[in-house]
Amino acid sequence: MPTVIEHATVITVDAGRRVLPDTAVGIDGNRIVAIGPTDEVAAQLPRAERIDGRGKAVLPGFANCHTHFTLTLSRGIQEDFSFPSTLRFPRNAGAYLSDEERVVMAQLGALESIRSGTTSPFEIGTGIAAYADAMMATGLRIVLGETAADLDQARAVRDGVFEFDDARGEAGLQRIEDLHRGYHGAGDGRVSVAVAGHAPEAVSPGLLRRLRDLQERLGAIATIHLNQSWWEVEAVMRTRGVLPTEYLFQHDYLHDRLVAGHCRCMDTREIALLGRSRTVVAFNSAIAARRGYSPRIGELAAAGCPIAMGSDNMAEDMVEVMRTGLFMERVRTGDGERPTPEDVLEWATAAGHRALAQPEAGTLEVGKLADLIVVETQRAHLVPTMRFVSAFVHQGTPADVTSVMVDGRWVMRDGVVLTMDERAIVREAERIGRRAWRRLLEDYPDVPFPVTLDTRDP
Ligand SMILES: [Zn+2]
Repeated sequence: MPTVIEHATVITVDAGRRVLPDTAVGIDGNRIVAIGPTDEVAAQLPRAERIDGRGKAVLPGFANCHTHFTLTLSRGIQEDFSFPSTLRFPRNAGAYLSDEERVVMAQLGALESIRSGTTSPFEIGTGIAAYADAMMATGLRIVLGETAADLDQARAVRDGVFEFDDARGEAGLQRIEDLHRGYHGAGDGRVSVAVAGHAPEAVSPGLLRRLRDLQERLGAIATIHLNQSWWEVEAVMRTRGVLPTEYLFQHDYLHDRLVAGHCRCMDTREIALLGRSRTVVAFNSAIAARRGYSPRIGELAAAGCPIAMGSDNMAEDMVEVMRTGLFMERVRTGDGERPTPEDVLEWATAAGHRALAQPEAGTLEVGKLADLIVVETQRAHLVPTMRFVSAFVHQGTPADVTSVMVDGRWVMRDGVVLTMDERAIVREAERIGRRAWRRLLEDYPDVPFPVTLDTRDP
């Protein structure tokens, strides 16, 4: 049945950044078919379900351009141990998860995504096939970025050993091909599969080339973690004799269909290279702040990089990502006016969807995909709503997002997630997290761990 959201404030994020008061949005199938005065839209769709949008704003859903759903497992822990983590466990807690438990942790990430208004996450991980069906069932428009590397990264961080293993790289390429064959275009086109190299220090020149070839052959987008830490910069300088972005440039890995995550420990030569190639920067602001980093977003944008946004580990909250990004960039540059709230909203919506090769989502315009969120406006921290984009970016919370539509279907309606059993997933994730960390701490009692965890069964 068609839907008309009536008398709402419509935040279009279109080229003119128009904000339309007392306006209706008409949806038929998976498309926006009308935007205009309520009586006109209602007349165009006489059989539609009519939803009262007074006191509500309708926005495009967010594109989270860099995340790892299963790392919800380390919430409340790894936020506080820098990157690369200063914790020296020989394995991570994720190694203790069964495939079924990984599904639950990924569902937890998907739940938080929906609750905070994300309609398109870019999930990056290794072995995504184990939870791809569950991700398709969330109703999200999801990009699955299966990762390849030929270095044992954990060992390199721990022991400084850089041994590249062809078989490891080969297995990664095969996983990407398999996932692409199984899921690209699945879920009525909601699922797509991307090619992911893990990070410059973890991918040899040969594997970089093969990833690039595979990406071209599949017509997919690509991603990589880039200039994430000074440890990475040092490691690439030592093993390749150049800076990380120069290394990718040498092997033709920079291009306008690449989403480079982080870009924070980067010199001006690298910024110029990245800009010239029109590589998209995923500005993962909140995690950068937690790590003590602040990427030079203004310079990257001026050099030619489109800016998108991502949450990265342990959180999926794009409302926080927008606000933190605005704060960080203003603090970094000492500029109390730029970026504007409208800039960061565009990065988190229209620009993000373009980066994910979803140009038909990300703005509210007739003919576009019906991927949208409904936000309550009449709240103590949001009124008066004379300039709602600013009020929401500066003061909004995920709880203000009450309904989420993807591809014309509600995945959350009036505060209730419709595609997953939220209570069961939250309960299970609490149990799984405690058990995995308990086992890790029991197995390595001699590894220094300077915090106290309550790992008892709930
Ligand atoms: Zn990441």
